[in-house]
Amino acid sequence: MREFDIVIIGAATAGSFFAKLMAEKGFSTLVIDALPEKEIGKRLTVFHVDSVYFDKTGIPRLGEGDPEFITSFEYSMCESAYGHYPKKTLYPFTVFNLERFNHHLHSWSKRFGVQYEFNTSFKEFIFNDEKKICGVKIQNEEGEEEIYCRLVVDCSGINAPVRCALPDDYGIENTPLSPRDMFYVILRYVKLEDPIREKPNTSTAYPYYKTWIAPSDDPEGAVIGIGANLSYEYAESVYKDFENTIRLPKIVGEPRIEKGTTPYRHAIYSLVSDGFLCIGDSAAITKPYSGEGVTASWNLCMIAADVVENAMKDGKYPTKDALWPINVKYSRTQGANFAEIMATLVGAIDATKDENEYEFKHNIVFDEAVMTQMNYAFANKMTIRQMLYLVNQIIDARANGSIRKSTISNIIKSLLKASKLKKHYKSFPKKAKKFEKWCIKADELWKDAGCMADIIEKSFKG
Ligand SMILES: Cc1cc2nc3c(=O)[nH]c(=O)nc-3n(C[C@H](O)[C@H](O)[C@H](O)COP(=O)(O)OP(=O)(O)OC[C@H]3O[C@@H](n4cnc5c(N)ncnc54)[C@H](O)[C@@H]3O)c2cc1C
Repeated sequence: MREFDIVIIGAATAGSFFAKLMAEKGFSTLVIDALPEKEIGKRLTVFHVDSVYFDKTGIPRLGEGDPEFITSFEYSMCESAYGHYPKKTLYPFTVFNLERFNHHLHSWSKRFGVQYEFNTSFKEFIFNDEKKICGVKIQNEEGEEEIYCRLVVDCSGINAPVRCALPDDYGIENTPLSPRDMFYVILRYVKLEDPIREKPNTSTAYPYYKTWIAPSDDPEGAVIGIGANLSYEYAESVYKDFENTIRLPKIVGEPRIEKGTTPYRHAIYSLVSDGFLCIGDSAAITKPYSGEGVTASWNLCMIAADVVENAMKDGKYPTKDALWPINVKYSRTQGANFAEIMATLVGAIDATKDENEYEFKHNIVFDEAVMTQMNYAFANKMTIRQMLYLVNQIIDARANGSIRKSTISNIIKSLLKASKLKKHYKSFPKKAKKFEKWCIKADELWKDAGCMADIIEKSFKG
């Protein structure tokens, strides 16, 4: 029988970073992954990391000449539904190969004592006499094994097989995400006919279609991406509209396709219970304005590490109450900010192409300074002055008939609902006993705010 302080399931970006933080604090930490090491992260060739997160996390920087590194850019662009009024967001991103980046995290975290076991799957929890988690049953090439530990951390990705294996009365949502709660993302790796003139050196997004054109690992290529709720079929139908409206670079041959899903809903309300913590896609933690999850989860890892250290100090068992400050700290900070942005976007995206064009032209919603601030803060940091400017622009738009009354009313309603949600998250209960009441109110507020899938479904039907 083997024993560790902490067993983490999932050896990708969330699991490996959290493992390093805990091993560094002196906890024996085992990370298991169902895949062979070479396959981890192979689902995506390229992915973007906010460059400022190397300093924030201490992850060793990678750059030109490193095999993980593809490129970097200091700003990204954003254009209207007809490809006009380009806006610049002054926020740097670095583009990596995901598989190699995961290896980078593995070798870095091993230096702090993290142990990895690949080809090793989580099968079920082990509970003690008090029905509290005290280990996991795993399956590897040699068969099944019971591993005992004080804390199990679920970093198993969007399907969340670990969280979903929790008993109904364990205090954590244990159902998988529905198609309404995720984005179906399709990446087309295209070869450009004229790479010298058309190769992108930054990412350009088209929020109306939720599409983007970005650098690829191929020096003569580009990646054209789309994300949409509901299904890949729906994403493809929007892509057709995008292709027919926006002048895309000419390509040669057939694109190589990569597909995957990313969570697009609020994070699970409670991330902790007795001997259990949930991080990453399995907890539905992604930036609401892009669907990107890597750095959003690293923020949660950093919040959780100090609380876990305290909860497990001197050989203590990490009870739900001792881990509860993770919920409080997360929900009152990034959780509240993401709730606000997500609810605001529901109203902001519900516009026609012409309205989107007008919004871009007149900095309604799509404002360079506001978008730059949002990228840095992972929050809507509109100043009073920017808010007054927005109201003024909206009044003008209504007066000159450029935007329908219903669209304006949707934007205003969503801003009000978003601010109620933020306030509610900011009052996340300090004690678990008040949680149920908090959840009932949160459910009501989310129902009232609606979701991106509602808007998409409406436009699909209509
Ligand atoms: C097409 C696409 C493009 C994206 N681009 C970006 C981007 O550019 N930037 C960004 O920040 N985010 C991006 N995202 C989102 C991002 O991929 C995720 O938010 C992030 O990778 C989640 O990391 P994770 O560690 O939580 O989970 P994952 O990376 O999904 O890792 C989970 C790990 O758990 C393992 N596992 C699962 N079940 C078991 C089990 N039973 N036993 C043992 N191990 C198990 C898996 O093998 C896997 O290795 C993109 C998503 C998609 C679909």
